[in-house]
Amino acid sequence: MTGEVFKGNFTQQEPITEEAIEAAVAVMRSGRLHRYNTLPGEKGEVALLEEEFAAYTGAKYCLAVASGGYALGCALRALEVKPGESVLTNAFTLAPVPGAIASVGAKPVFVGVTEGLVIDLDDLQVKISETGAKVLMLSHMRGHLVDMDALMYICNGAGVAVIEDCAHTMGAHWNGVPSGRHGVIGCYSTQTYKHINSGEGGFLITDDEESAARAIMLSGSYMLYGKHTAGPAPDVFEKIKYETPNVSGRMDHLRAAILRVQLRSLDVQVEKWNARYRVVEAGLRGTKGLTLIERPEPEHYVGSSIQFLLLDWPDAKIEALVAACLKRGVELKWFGAPEPVAFTSRYESWRYCEVQSLPESDRVLRAIMDMRLPLTFSLEDCEIVSRIIRDEVLRAG
Ligand SMILES: *Cc1c(COP(=O)(O)O)cnc(C)c1O
Repeated sequence: MTGEVFKGNFTQQEPITEEAIEAAVAVMRSGRLHRYNTLPGEKGEVALLEEEFAAYTGAKYCLAVASGGYALGCALRALEVKPGESVLTNAFTLAPVPGAIASVGAKPVFVGVTEGLVIDLDDLQVKISETGAKVLMLSHMRGHLVDMDALMYICNGAGVAVIEDCAHTMGAHWNGVPSGRHGVIGCYSTQTYKHINSGEGGFLITDDEESAARAIMLSGSYMLYGKHTAGPAPDVFEKIKYETPNVSGRMDHLRAAILRVQLRSLDVQVEKWNARYRVVEAGLRGTKGLTLIERPEPEHYVGSSIQFLLLDWPDAKIEALVAACLKRGVELKWFGAPEPVAFTSRYESWRYCEVQSLPESDRVLRAIMDMRLPLTFSLEDCEIVSRIIRDEVLRAG
C-alpha cells in the first residue's frame, strides 16, 4: 500500500443540478433578479426560500442575506450591540466571526476550546463573570456541537443572548433540536464550501419578532418589509423602522432559485457526507499518535469535514506529515500552523483584538488537523485517503 497516491480534488463540489440550473435560467429570463422586483401577487424566489428555510428549521422568521458573515454582523446589530461592548466568542473559529464583532466596533473576548473541539463551558462561565458580556457569538466550528442544553443553561442563567454561527452545522441537530434553534438568532452560510451552494449567501433565523424586524430593516428592505412573508407583522416594524439603519446585504432571486432546489435534498446530502465521514473515521481509528474527535451521542452532525489531533507533536514533525500527505495527494490543513496558510482559525491570528492568553487551548489549537470531505469523493476515495494518512502518521512514528 505504501506509495499509493490519491487523485481527487479536495475543493471540488458537486455541480449545480439541471433542475436548479433551469430555475436560475427562468429567473434570468424574467429579468427580475432583485428580491423586491416581483409581479403583483408573486412572492418571488427569495421570500419563498425564506419560508422554506424557516419551515426546515422550525423558526418563526427567516431572512436570506448576501453572506454568512453578513448574517453574523446583522445579528449583532439586531441585538443592538454597541461599540466597545464585549462579545464572547470561540478561540477556535473562522475569521468572519471575530470580524463580524469587530465590524460593529465591539470587542471579541475569546473563550477556550476543549479537546472535543467545542467551547470550554468552564472558561465560558469565567469569562461571563469577568467581562459581564451580554452576548455570546457561538461558533459551531467544523460542525462540532457543544452540549447545547448545558450551554443554554449557563447563558440563560447569566442573561447572555446567544447568536449561533451555523456555517458548518446547517442540517445538524443536538438532541433533536436543529442547530441554530437554541440561541435567539441562528446564522448560516450558503457559500460554496458549506452545505448548500450559491457561491455567496446566508440566512438569519429567529423567533424574536423585534430582532427579525430589525434584521429585515438592516438588510436593506427600505419600506418594502411587507414583502417579507417569512417576517413579522407590519406593526412590529412600526416601532423600529425609522431608527434602524440600512446596511444593505440582500439575497437575490438568482441565488435563491438554486438554493430552493438544493434545500429539498439537504437531508439526503447530509447522509452522504456522514457515510464518507464514517469511512475516514473508521480508517483512522486506532492510529497511534493520532487522536480522533469522539462525537457525543446527542449530536447529529454533518460530516462535511473531519478533524483529528496530533497532540504534542513538534511543529517540524507536523509540517513533515502535511508535506508527505500532500505528496500523495491528500490535502491536510494544519489549523495550528504558526503562520496561517490560506485562512485563519485561531485567536492569535486576529491582531486587531486585545491580546489574550489561553494556554490550555493553545495545546489543542496547535494540534488540530482538518480535512474536507466533498461529496465528489466516493466511499472508496475516502478509504484511500484514510489509508494514506494512517500510513504517514505511523511512518512519522
Ligand atoms: C464560512 C464561515 C462563515 C461565514 O460565511 P461567509 O458566507 O463566507 O461569509 C462564518 N463562520 C464560519 C465558521 C465559517 O466557516
